[in-house]
Amino acid sequence: MHEESLTRALLSQVIAVADANQAIRVQKIEVSCGGLSGVEPLLLQEAFQRIQTEHECCRDAVLSIHDPGLPAQCRDCRTTFQIQDFRFRCPVCSSSDLQILDGDCLKLLNVSLQLPEEVISEPISGTVP
Ligand SMILES: [Zn+2]
Repeated sequence: MHEESLTRALLSQVIAVADANQAIRVQKIEVSCGGLSGVEPLLLQEAFQRIQTEHECCRDAVLSIHDPGLPAQCRDCRTTFQIQDFRFRCPVCSSSDLQILDGDCLKLLNVSLQLPEEVISEPISGTVP
């Protein structure tokens, strides 16, 4: 399944970030999933919830999926605009020579990590009966 392999790739990327920061837990993962990415947000969410339990540090993480829309730039007049209803035409010069700027892939935007709290040792005078 497409979403499952994507989720595994996503999680290994997240875990690499968590390890690099010596985090003990991943709290939130934000991704951008565009209309042309071929990824179904609902299936991605399902796959994530199934696979996150395999990784201790991601067990309670929340996956937040953003839709970036479909920003494009006209190669003829350089206008940047949002493609609506899959109309691949420049609104200024009607050219169809467009470059899609976002929305055609799944991107990892942000990872919220819980870092280990400082361990404070404080001398206590007193006896434990
Ligand atoms: Zn144009």
